[in-house]
Amino acid sequence: MISYEQARQVVVEEVGAKIGPRPTERLSVWDAIGRVLAKDVLADREYPPFDRSTRDGYAVRASEARTAAQSRCAGEIKAGDTVTQPLTAGTCVQVMTGAAVPAGADAVVMIEHTQRDGESVRFERDAAAGQNIVWRGSEVTAGQTLLASGTRLGYVELGLAAQVGAVELTCARKPRVAILSTGDEVVLADQTPGPFQIRNSNSVSLAAQVRLAGGEPVVLGNAADTVKDLRAKIVLGLREDALVLSGGVSMGKYDLVETVLKELGTEFFFDAVAIRPGKPAVFGKCGETFVFGLPGNPVSTMVTFELFAVPALDLLGGTQARPLALLGATLTEAMTENPGLTHFLPARVEWPNGKAEVKPLRWQGSGDIATLAQANCFLVVPSDKGALARGESVSVMMRRDLA
Ligand code: AMP
Ligand code: MG
Repeated sequence: MISYEQARQVVVEEVGAKIGPRPTERLSVWDAIGRVLAKDVLADREYPPFDRSTRDGYAVRASEARTAAQSRCAGEIKAGDTVTQPLTAGTCVQVMTGAAVPAGADAVVMIEHTQRDGESVRFERDAAAGQNIVWRGSEVTAGQTLLASGTRLGYVELGLAAQVGAVELTCARKPRVAILSTGDEVVLADQTPGPFQIRNSNSVSLAAQVRLAGGEPVVLGNAADTVKDLRAKIVLGLREDALVLSGGVSMGKYDLVETVLKELGTEFFFDAVAIRPGKPAVFGKCGETFVFGLPGNPVSTMVTFELFAVPALDLLGGTQARPLALLGATLTEAMTENPGLTHFLPARVEWPNGKAEVKPLRWQGSGDIATLAQANCFLVVPSDKGALARGESVSVMMRRDLA
């Protein structure tokens, strides 16, 4: 059985190698948070566009602004003012933060380090050439590529796009992800379940995970545990970029998902991973659609989506697969797990003294969403570790939605 790291590698390689050209769309910078750029953004001019003061103070020749020296203030430049006059010897000019520094000046002295008396300015310390000035073009040259195609747009990237006037961005279309839950025991979340039925929570959590991963969920409801119903609904899902199924991939008599996928011509890349929860997870490709068959217990579904579907959605969304963001933490209590599988256990990480400490939560296994809701991370117990001691260094996978 392959490890979760190998399984992720398989996903990245298969999707990376078999993905077709991705459609694009134009979006306003106001609407593009979290989206992926499909066309480079270039600098429209150099930045800063003029020699810029970073302080409120006096533009000077550094050689003249010595401790106890005096200078005549020849004027004032506000942010946005047009500057034409160079600085003349023996004078300084009052400048505001963000204002242009006149030619001839090579330093700005902070107002806090001066004494003003009428037109006369007295310096309280020596100025150094270049201080408090950002020179024209020193941040960005004109025409420079600032954001490359494939970049995920966060608030920083959107601010940068706005700075250079790129108010319309060409972005990759969101990958469309069909979501199909399976199981005779499952009713819609807005229905009242019978005493031995359960509500379909997986479709809701999966849709949320798809959105968080930058995809567009297409919810197909629930299929009964029959070949006929599964086939009909899986076929609908095969119209999308990816299909994520929950349930029906274990060894039970009514776990028919793999059978139906096989019959429809699916090429399987793996059909089990050495993890708990989530061991029976399946990944393949049917026609043009990448297919994930995830086990139905809600925590298994959630963990396997994070581990295996998220990198696929990154690639389908036009960007690189993000690495799994594992964090180091100190275990607050000893614990034992069966070796042979990598465990992903609900846990809480806190930073009591500025250092990460993680405490595993007591839970009832992979059906226990209530305990997972108390967790902010999954504690990763490596497959070769039967016992972990208190104080040991471990890895945690933060919940992406809370991080
Ligand atoms: P399965 O992987 O089909 O064997 O499902 C395992 C268990 O997961 C089932 O017995 C249910 O308790 C639970 N389950 C399956 N599908 C869902 C769903 N859509 N929503 C919530 N729980 C589910
Ligand atoms: Mg089932």
